[in-house]
Amino acid sequence: MPITLQLRPGRERSLRRHHPWVFSGAVAGLSTDADPGANVLVRTADGDEVGWATYSPASQIRARMWTFDPSVAIDDDLVRGRITAAVERRRAWLAPDAPQRLVFSESDGVPGLVADRYGATVVCQLGTTGADRFRDVIADTLAALPGVTSVVERSDTDARTREGLAPREGVLRGDDPGQVVVAEDRWQYAVDVTGGHKTGFYLDQRHARALIGRVAAGRRVLNVCSYTGAFSVIAAGSGAASVTSIDSSQPALAQHVVNADLNGVEVGEQIEGDAFQQLRIQRDRARSYDLIVLDPPRLAATEGQLDKASRAYKDLNLLACKLAAPGAIVLTFSCSGAMRMELFQKVVAGAAGDAGREATIVGRLHQPEDHPVPLAFPEAAYLKGLVLHLD
Ligand code: SAH
Repeated sequence: MPITLQLRPGRERSLRRHHPWVFSGAVAGLSTDADPGANVLVRTADGDEVGWATYSPASQIRARMWTFDPSVAIDDDLVRGRITAAVERRRAWLAPDAPQRLVFSESDGVPGLVADRYGATVVCQLGTTGADRFRDVIADTLAALPGVTSVVERSDTDARTREGLAPREGVLRGDDPGQVVVAEDRWQYAVDVTGGHKTGFYLDQRHARALIGRVAAGRRVLNVCSYTGAFSVIAAGSGAASVTSIDSSQPALAQHVVNADLNGVEVGEQIEGDAFQQLRIQRDRARSYDLIVLDPPRLAATEGQLDKASRAYKDLNLLACKLAAPGAIVLTFSCSGAMRMELFQKVVAGAAGDAGREATIVGRLHQPEDHPVPLAFPEAAYLKGLVLHLD
């Protein structure tokens, strides 16, 4: 007998549209106790079968759908097939060995699994108990991909903490890859897959990297929250007049120096410190820049943090507007899934207004093709950016 999860009346509506989450408030009850990560058959209040989900008793997202076909078995073959299909879909966009996200969780039908490829190394994050149960088949499938020699686990995400899971890190298959060097366009990056943020590199900013390469020439560049300096290296190598990078992480700034050396470009000015504080110092010194990038960490992890996050985004963007020279380009990002583009744009407009600047949107940026967003699952569209021209 399968364990069934009964929904409250009417709460199947979003699932009928193939939205993959069952929130705790939608659950009427379970047929029997279920262990974390158990596969449960989701039923409507009327008893109709909706499909199979992985159960997360400790999370607000109480269950994540594996399938909307109740006849499908949730087993190793399914997980292997989903990973293989996800990898295959990327072939339309990227060479097989290009640095890329191979699997993007619910977007690729594997709830809780993120897998990023850096050359011969794949780094995975198992963010849910459901994904945890398939650790072996996940590791084996990724290790079997052509050209892959190491699979590393970096399951240290806050989603995992919210699920009541302890962090897990280590080499799952093959050798410890140490420092990995990847190439994208004409740039090279050293990626610290065991010590860096997330899986080591911000693959999701590929569009921004290309854009910066196109516009940086001759500009004084300010890269705020610069991490390992990808934007800074590209700007320097594309003829920027100067490059200033601000980040609070000393190891990230050190890695930026490694990346500058790899590409034979100047590191430029590095400022270690809090972006909010450092931008005020720059403003007080009346510094000005022609290309400013704001790429702060996720300031709103949940809907509940949106107000506070909006104030922080506004502060940051206000300072950037004050530091922007006439004719400057500002790239401003939010990677908070809870913050929709509409609200973000409103916040940025408020900042420009308060700074007394006329700002025009000349472009929008978002996560690239290897971070897909099912139409039924808009929450997957976490990265949003505005490209602004300031008068
Ligand atoms: N633009 C980068 C990614 C930025 S990730 C890239 O494309 O590679 C966000 C960065 O913000 C991290 O490097 C983190 O160390 C830094 N950070 C977090 N809080 C900060 C703060 N208050 N001030 C400055 N940097 C901060």
